[in-house]
Amino acid sequence: MNEQALEISSQELLLRLNDTLASQGDGQERLNQITEIVAHSMGVDVCSIYLHRDPKTLELCATKGLNPEAVHVTRLRVNEGLVGKVSRLSEPVNSADAPSEKGFRYMAETGEERFSSFLGVPIQRLGQMLGVLVVQTKESRSFLNSEVNTLAVVATVLAEMRETGIITGEGKALSALHTQPVTYNGLVAHDGFAEGRVLLHEPRVVITNPVSANPEKELTRLKNAIAELRGTVDYLLESQMQHTLSIEQREILETYRMFANSSGWLTRMEGNIATGLSAEAAVEKEQSEARARMEKSPDPYLRDRFHDLDDLFNRLLRILTGQGRNIKDDMPENPILIARNIGPGELLEYGKNLKGIVLEEGSVGSHATIIARAMAIPLIIHVKGITTEALNDDVIFIDSENQSVHLRPDEFVASAIHNRIEMAESVKATYAKIRNLPALTKDGKNIGLYINAGLMAELPNLERSGAEGVGLFRTELRFLNSSNIPTREDLAKQYSQVLDSAGGKRVIFRTVDIGSDKMVPYMKREEEPNPAMGWRAIRISLDKPGFLRMQCQALYNGAKGRPLSIMFPMVSSYDEFTQAKKICLIQLERFKKMGKVIPESLEIGAMLETPSLAFAPDDFYKSTDFISIGGNDLKQFFFAADRQNEKVRSRYHALYLSYLHFIEYICNRCKENKTKVSYCGEDAGNPEIAICLAAMGVETFSIRSASLGRVKHYLRQVDLEEIKGLINTARSEGKTTFTEGIKQVMVRCESSVT
Ligand code: PEP
Ligand code: MG
Repeated sequence: MNEQALEISSQELLLRLNDTLASQGDGQERLNQITEIVAHSMGVDVCSIYLHRDPKTLELCATKGLNPEAVHVTRLRVNEGLVGKVSRLSEPVNSADAPSEKGFRYMAETGEERFSSFLGVPIQRLGQMLGVLVVQTKESRSFLNSEVNTLAVVATVLAEMRETGIITGEGKALSALHTQPVTYNGLVAHDGFAEGRVLLHEPRVVITNPVSANPEKELTRLKNAIAELRGTVDYLLESQMQHTLSIEQREILETYRMFANSSGWLTRMEGNIATGLSAEAAVEKEQSEARARMEKSPDPYLRDRFHDLDDLFNRLLRILTGQGRNIKDDMPENPILIARNIGPGELLEYGKNLKGIVLEEGSVGSHATIIARAMAIPLIIHVKGITTEALNDDVIFIDSENQSVHLRPDEFVASAIHNRIEMAESVKATYAKIRNLPALTKDGKNIGLYINAGLMAELPNLERSGAEGVGLFRTELRFLNSSNIPTREDLAKQYSQVLDSAGGKRVIFRTVDIGSDKMVPYMKREEEPNPAMGWRAIRISLDKPGFLRMQCQALYNGAKGRPLSIMFPMVSSYDEFTQAKKICLIQLERFKKMGKVIPESLEIGAMLETPSLAFAPDDFYKSTDFISIGGNDLKQFFFAADRQNEKVRSRYHALYLSYLHFIEYICNRCKENKTKVSYCGEDAGNPEIAICLAAMGVETFSIRSASLGRVKHYLRQVDLEEIKGLINTARSEGKTTFTEGIKQVMVRCESSVT
């Protein structure tokens, strides 16, 4: 048979498969028909379909040519036989002499020894290995490339059929995909239990027409879709809108443009159409193969770039199928958001309707995580594979205690989690009992407890938690949550409402900390290689003093004569603090001169987030009304470990004795200069860490409200002098961390939680 003839037969083959797709009958009948059609069309003795029962096991689900008794009996592990090899490597195996191949496994029940040649191709969809499609012949024969391609095209169609459930789910065939319970393990970024329904940030496109009898029409559809895609990318990059793009968005769009114009990409998809696939199936075949190639790549940069390519494929599929993104009004009840990753702005758009968030990527130190915490939404990150398995509206549970996510849980798992939710509620009740008591340690130190906030919706937590006030109000969230720059009047209104809700309790407003991963859509930015160490926070406010002036005016107006506390983020030197403070004080003088109402009192403090500020002269400490240690940033700069990169972030933690030593140094300097010191990094919400920081001299904490009761409970159980003694012993013994020492103390405290 020549190549041309085979290509024609591949189209014919797909058309015949199309009839099978359209025909009535259960999944098993369809599978049987497919093996018959493929064996007949390709002129082979055997065609078999193996599907994954679980990620490690393949099951013979249909065959033409092997012993029919072996169907649903023969199972093999992915490390067994040539079939296993295809799945393991996610690439074709083509052999004219299969029994002599390394890894060949003789399966007596199938009568396989009679067949010399073997061609197996993976059945895969979007990086998920679904099974293996095999053809065999008695006579020794090396399959041509065109035959390998033909079989791969059939495998694509099978993958679509498996996804849409039309070849499985009934009879003896395997159950349909996305119906079984699956448990995932991840990393807890914000704890809590949640029960709800899946809301996919980017719903998967479903292809119901993988085959087409009209390649010209499909080619035109593909070309039109690509033209539309290129047009959108060019428009975003070149139109007026380009100024609204962040550097990261721009980079991604440039990558899109590169791929969208690459001829190899288009040629491969056109080739897929020529074999009889519809335009969308042709795109998806290329997407699956690209994903399989990239996932094997040891280069993390390349793997990251693939995410961009993957998005491009998804955009193309959406254009072709007309299937869109989620519309917010379409949210299920108790939505739990599933996404590969999400930015802080996008998360704010969903708002606090979400009951939970599960991400494939993400980071404990990111601002999206901080926002999830601010909204008290449980968040589990690094849950690999969930975006390809979950379907919109699936039942899902988040169980942060076990660092797990249960998708479509069975009744036993569901009832176990319900029990644990009840237990967690009773522990909360224990903490509620001490709500109005001070965080007084056994050795008589009264530790101040404040909450972190940034959204109006968080203010009621002040009363509920029994906190003394808001130790960090992140004013930039209002900027992130808006498509235009908020006006001075808008801001004054918000600040006034915050103070109203605080009911006389102290609120420390942090001036805007934008930049790094907190990009505001309306601000034009330069490209920066290290944005976390770049033009952000106070650096922007000092370079654009009009911005800081406007925020000061809004704060004074919002205060309406009440006491006001302001602090500046990311101060690196005494000088920067002096300049920013001066701007605020000049505005205050103006207000006075204009006869406007000024705050009853004004405190101006600094966040200590860069190691350099710790070594500022005594005058700095004396001139600031308070210091708030921003441990999230301070820790990343102290250890030179990006807070957003889990690989490096998790190598170090706040219980490193070097870090505790540094905190002790800062607290001692504050004490010498009579400066109030607090700690507002996320770590303070962890009682083990809070206790150690308090032992080092931190007087006040500002933490997420959900952790306040717990932290207070533990602080009330400990003697800080004893803890300090234990830390000193660990230091004198030359230890690196204090994790073991604090564990024993925690066990003692734990036993008193009833
Ligand atoms: C910090 O860095 O600790 C902090 C509180 O600020 P943010 O997390 O908003 O950068
Ligand atoms: Mg910070």
